[in-house]
Amino acid sequence: MGEKKEKDQKTVAGKKPPQTENIEILLRPKSLEEFVGQAQLKDNLAVYFQAAKKRGEPIDHCLFYAPPGLGKTTLAHILAREMGVNIRVTSGPILTKLGDLAGLLTSLEEGDILFIDEIHRLGRSIEEALYPVMEDFTFYIHTGSRQSGMGSAHLKLAVPKFTLVGATTRAGLLTGPLRDRFGIIGHLGFYGVEEMCQIVLRSSKILGMNLSAEAAGILAGRSRRTPRTANRILKRVRDFACVLTGGEVTADLLKESLRRMEIDDMGLDPMDRRFLLTIIQNYDGGPVGLETLAAGLQEEPDTITDIYEPYLIQEGFIARTSKGRVASPKAFEHLGIKRAVRPVKETSATLFS
Ligand code: ADP
Repeated sequence: MGEKKEKDQKTVAGKKPPQTENIEILLRPKSLEEFVGQAQLKDNLAVYFQAAKKRGEPIDHCLFYAPPGLGKTTLAHILAREMGVNIRVTSGPILTKLGDLAGLLTSLEEGDILFIDEIHRLGRSIEEALYPVMEDFTFYIHTGSRQSGMGSAHLKLAVPKFTLVGATTRAGLLTGPLRDRFGIIGHLGFYGVEEMCQIVLRSSKILGMNLSAEAAGILAGRSRRTPRTANRILKRVRDFACVLTGGEVTADLLKESLRRMEIDDMGLDPMDRRFLLTIIQNYDGGPVGLETLAAGLQEEPDTITDIYEPYLIQEGFIARTSKGRVASPKAFEHLGIKRAVRPVKETSATLFS
């Protein structure tokens, strides 16, 4: 027994920290101070935290919207830490049963946070049940039968005052009544290169990598201005370094790792390029409708709008027009494709000029 314990300890001591299963948690900033960028939103949240604490009340319901990987979930967890409360996590597609919602709500304590990711994907009955919960902390359980003389078809359940934090990649898909019930609405934008550098350096320290400023700069420029992407690339670079250079991350090692991962100098990965190539080669640069494009790429339309497009639009590789997606001259240039001369109608050239 004693021998086994000693063996286990040796195994743990022998592994290089941090371990993979803990990495996501370790990389997540724990406070607003650690959270890089999004200055205006951060400053405002700091005020709202302070005011709520002063009044001894939970912070108002918050909605964070942004493309994936920019820090919505992280902010929800920071909010819980700053307020010193528990956080319960669920998501729109998972929360389908009113009974599950009731279970979640009854498990909350005063001031707790209920985080609903992908809140735009909540079913209608759940969303409607949330209205009175958000407004006056009352959950109505429909009994389904109107008993004669009793005059009521539902039971009322008092819910402790809590904060609902919703996250969405598609604020436009939220219904007006749901959006209006959030007192705080925050948008997170893509990060600047300088901010990405800070994030890369912070994460690399946590991962036990000794990254030079030059290497951090290269990685920052290739991470789609998205912290999650930067972290994902960093972890793979750590693997390459571990095998190829015994752990040292030089600029050369980094470039070689990015080459092997097929991430180009604009940070585009093979899927991004396939996306652009499909518009350019199959649809003559567009416009092409989302459904057609999705079928051509064998992807869900939601994956295209949520994951691929935001960055490509932000960087000016494509535009969304009323007729569909259009590849920009920058996309042609980046892929080294010459644009065929087209008759003058509404072409992408006129759209981007
Ligand atoms: P989202 O919920 O918007 O999809 P997350 O909050 O899960 O994104 O962020 C993904 C990861 O990126 C986090 O685990 C964290 O490590 C990192 N991250 C996000 N935002 C920041 C930031 N502002 N500063 C440092 N790291 C960040």
